[in-house]
Amino acid sequence: MKNYNIAVVPGDGIGNEIVPEGYRVLEAVAKKHNFNITSKTFDWGAGYYLKNEQFLPEDGLETLKEFDAIYFGSVGLPAVDDTLPAKDYTFKVRTSFDQYVNYRPVRTYAGVQRPLRTEKHIDFVIVRENTEGEFVQMGGQYLPDEANGMGLDTSIFTRKGIERVAHYAFKLARKRRNKVTHITKSNTLINSLSYWDRVIKEVATQYPDVVHDQMYIDNSTASFVLKPEVFDVVLTTNLFGDILSDLGGAIMGSLGLGGSGNINPEKDFPSMFEPIHGSAPDIAGQNIANPYGQIWSAAIMLEHLDEFEAANNIMEAIDKSTLEGALTKDLGGNASTSDVADAVIKNL
Ligand code: ATP
Repeated sequence: MKNYNIAVVPGDGIGNEIVPEGYRVLEAVAKKHNFNITSKTFDWGAGYYLKNEQFLPEDGLETLKEFDAIYFGSVGLPAVDDTLPAKDYTFKVRTSFDQYVNYRPVRTYAGVQRPLRTEKHIDFVIVRENTEGEFVQMGGQYLPDEANGMGLDTSIFTRKGIERVAHYAFKLARKRRNKVTHITKSNTLINSLSYWDRVIKEVATQYPDVVHDQMYIDNSTASFVLKPEVFDVVLTTNLFGDILSDLGGAIMGSLGLGGSGNINPEKDFPSMFEPIHGSAPDIAGQNIANPYGQIWSAAIMLEHLDEFEAANNIMEAIDKSTLEGALTKDLGGNASTSDVADAVIKNL
């Protein structure tokens, strides 16, 4: 029997509630599809930092490397400097393990009320460049005195970085509806994003069967709201993808609905699967957090591990559950976090 060894990192806040529930769904689906899941849980994150002055131990990355995948919640606590969780955990794992694709699907959930008037089916994937761009955190602050100062962040766009994520997006489009919309702002960011456009256009010539569109970030935010059905694969930079995926969550009906994968397509390193939202300390500890995004992330993880039937099974069970009314408070229902996982397990 096939076995997958999963590193489980719940992190902070609601991560400690939604990750165990998502893991229950994983165990149930594995049983049904005749494969085995083993795991080790790590208490890393902002809570760990408060005790140990680091988000994960010195050999944490070495430890994670041995696993087939990482099932992650979210890191961050109000008591911890907000600049640290991304720098010291999330970006660290993403860049060290070359998880250069951030795969963030957006779709309509059956039976969930959405904020948009359109009744049209929404189904697209945001492919966010995940290791460079605006989030390389190179720069500094110059603070000579109270009256003067400056802050500087540099964006880095390399041919290698753009080409590999663009190839991923075009290949993905071939498995979907054959369209890539790449997001840019090259009319004002005339160096970095003109180069981004140029390399993507070169890559596009290798996929003549895929429709390729370019859209400015400002126009795309409006289009996400006014005509989201036109998108299939949305290829974005690191910063734009970060913002657009929250908007994607919102048009689905809640941030809690979005799942994602930080993917190393070559499988040289483990990939990491997490919901699109943060640790939501405002609702932590009450068993009311929406776990659908975390559960969807488990399905994305299984797809990455080539367990396609099990992944589909989870998605179908999610649809049945939302349609039956297993909805948490953010979706206007009164189901608890564990009620939702129970419903999904029952519907597998
Ligand atoms: P980050 O900086 O990591 O994005 P944040 O606190 O700014 O963290 P989130 O944690 O994503 O952002 O929370 C934003 C809002 O969305 C909060 O009001 C939170 O309660 C809500 N929210 C986020 N995730 C969920 C969820 N799974 N279920 C219900 N509400 C959620």
